[in-house]
Amino acid sequence: MTRLLQYYIDRHAIRTLKKFNSKLRRFVLCTFKQEYIEDKQKTRFGDCFQCGKCCSLLFKCPFLEGPEGNTRCSIYDKGRPKQCAAFPIDYKDLHDVDYLCGYFFSNEVEKLGKLKTQ
Ligand code: SF4
Ligand code: SF4
Repeated sequence: MTRLLQYYIDRHAIRTLKKFNSKLRRFVLCTFKQEYIEDKQKTRFGDCFQCGKCCSLLFKCPFLEGPEGNTRCSIYDKGRPKQCAAFPIDYKDLHDVDYLCGYFFSNEVEKLGKLKTQ
């Protein structure tokens, strides 16, 4: 029982650490690597369907309003952080929301297509 509990604690700790790293990565990219962001956004398609998943990573953002599936940001046009507007920056970010996002990256779709035809 103790080992099982330890397993779940470890797993939770690893997931939390990964999400923290991802948040930090987005902050660093948005602050120092604007070119990378712009480059990646050229390959990003789709739209946000306001699920609010990216606003609830690690903790639920206090500016998030509305029920799940129909959320809105109360500071959307009033200076929301750059990393919010840029999400998902690249394919790695989609992992944080279990790939359930309205956006996708064309180069990743191409890669999948190539894998299927091999
Ligand atoms: S996870 Fe994607 S679809 Fe959901 S709110 Fe964030 S950007 Fe929009
Ligand atoms: S500031 Fe707005 S967009 Fe950014 S995490 Fe909070 S609710 Fe989401």
